[in-house]
Amino acid sequence: MKTLQEYLDEAAVAHGHLCAGQVLGVRMAMLGLQKLQIDDPKGKDRKRVITFVEIDRCATDAVMVVTGCRLGKRALKFRDWGKMAATFVDLESGKAVRVAARESSKDLARSMHPEIADKNQQQMLAYREMPDDQLFQAQWVHVEIPPEELPGYKGERVVCGQCGEGINFQREVRRGGKVLCRACAGERYYEPIS
Ligand SMILES: [Zn+2]
Ligand SMILES: [Zn+2]
Repeated sequence: MKTLQEYLDEAAVAHGHLCAGQVLGVRMAMLGLQKLQIDDPKGKDRKRVITFVEIDRCATDAVMVVTGCRLGKRALKFRDWGKMAATFVDLESGKAVRVAARESSKDLARSMHPEIADKNQQQMLAYREMPDDQLFQAQWVHVEIPPEELPGYKGERVVCGQCGEGINFQREVRRGGKVLCRACAGERYYEPIS
């Protein structure tokens, strides 16, 4: 594993700027991987890790930098829960650890560096200095990962009976003898404009 500073440098490039979220994300991922005893996530251990992120904010980019888990590799799973937390799963050992930022860390940052007025700067520094257990809560968890969620899964591709678009990874909905995509089944997030 690289050092905090090396990861922060990488994260700043990948994310476009250095911010408190990058420090949080890098440390969150480093802690998760340490707990799982994974030390080369982008090298020899690159097929071992799946990461579930619970928020789409700055920290998520940093988690990707450290773990090497990406959406396009199916190793990054997004649960849109608005929580500053991530779960790191080791496919080899079956172990998983969920790391969540403590709500108290913001107040702690303020009390550690009251001399810094800018909140982002204040948190950026404090989040570097804070011990892991004051910044995060880590918990061993079990995560069930069915085959169709794994990277490299090759399954049958079906076609939606309504719109005709292809559906991978068993994301179809079967209803009244029909095979539907999730959009046609009523989960559409867009409305076609005619
Ligand atoms: Zn940011
Ligand atoms: Zn459809």
